[in-house]
Amino acid sequence: MRKKIIAGNWKMNKTPSEAVALVELLKPLVNNPDVDVVFCVPAIDIIPVIEAAKGSNIGVGAENMYYEESGAYTGEISPDMLTDAGCSYVILGHSERRGYFAETNESVNKKVLKAFEHGLIPIICCGESLEQREQGITIDWIRQQVKIAFLGVSADQTKTAIIAYEPIWAIGTGKTATADQAEEVCKAIRSCIGEIYDQETADAIRIQYGGSVNAKTAPELFAMPDIDGGLVGGAALKAEFADIVNYKK
Ligand code: PEP
Repeated sequence: MRKKIIAGNWKMNKTPSEAVALVELLKPLVNNPDVDVVFCVPAIDIIPVIEAAKGSNIGVGAENMYYEESGAYTGEISPDMLTDAGCSYVILGHSERRGYFAETNESVNKKVLKAFEHGLIPIICCGESLEQREQGITIDWIRQQVKIAFLGVSADQTKTAIIAYEPIWAIGTGKTATADQAEEVCKAIRSCIGEIYDQETADAIRIQYGGSVNAKTAPELFAMPDIDGGLVGGAALKAEFADIVNYKK
């Protein structure tokens, strides 16, 4: 039985002091033993958020990371910086990184390999545009993203990874995919992992849905057999996130 994992993606929101206030607000509300709870926060918020989250069940992650160890990469953040700060997770390949910052399947793969080398759990994002959905190439597109992201990754590593299926047309638009639409793709991702590795690996990996998840849509989405939780943007910045984490209550 896979444990649900619900992660907030704060994006470029919250100054360090605002971040601490949000953790103080959510900390007592997200204590659900049936769910792994993760806050993925801007780099500058990582240390204060880890400090503020002490004594809670909140895991902390970054929103991005570079694939080199160190050196002349102005503005980038290294895996050692994240682990030394106390991060356990890192979002990789978010559609905003792909769209605005020219990340490719190949650079995502390099980052995935580097994350595993440093013991960070990657939350690997994939998702189709509206145009691709209308062209009927969603599954082909997602399979390609997944296959490249996992090149050179072992089955044991893959079992610990998180994939976030995030249709681009649903991100920040208020248009949540229906539970059936989300399940169809998450199921296809799981069978793709099964083809690359084996059934045991496919059964172990956790697959999230992301795209305008809110307290109303979460229960139906998270009840689907291949959806193991969510990656939540807008609703992760308010008390509603706690209702998403406690979607069963
Ligand atoms: C995201 O960007 O990961 C996301 C899912 O955003 P939102 O929930 O705001 O659509």
